[in-house]
Amino acid sequence: MKSQFCKKCQRPLPEGYKHRYCESCRNQQAENLKKTGKGLLALAGSVASLAVVVVTKGKINPKS
Ligand SMILES: [Zn+2]
Repeated sequence: MKSQFCKKCQRPLPEGYKHRYCESCRNQQAENLKKTGKGLLALAGSVASLAVVVVTKGKINPKS
């Protein structure tokens, strides 16, 4: 069995460790994912509201 190392910081991983990154790198990744996820959610929310505005403007035309 070959020993594994973290793909990011090259720290040796414990035997039978299932992940490619060590615990601290995984924590960092989780933090980044949370931030990215929140950003994406906010973006999706604004895009959705924008789409609603566009759709309602297309259907309801107050000028005509
Ligand atoms: Zn690491």
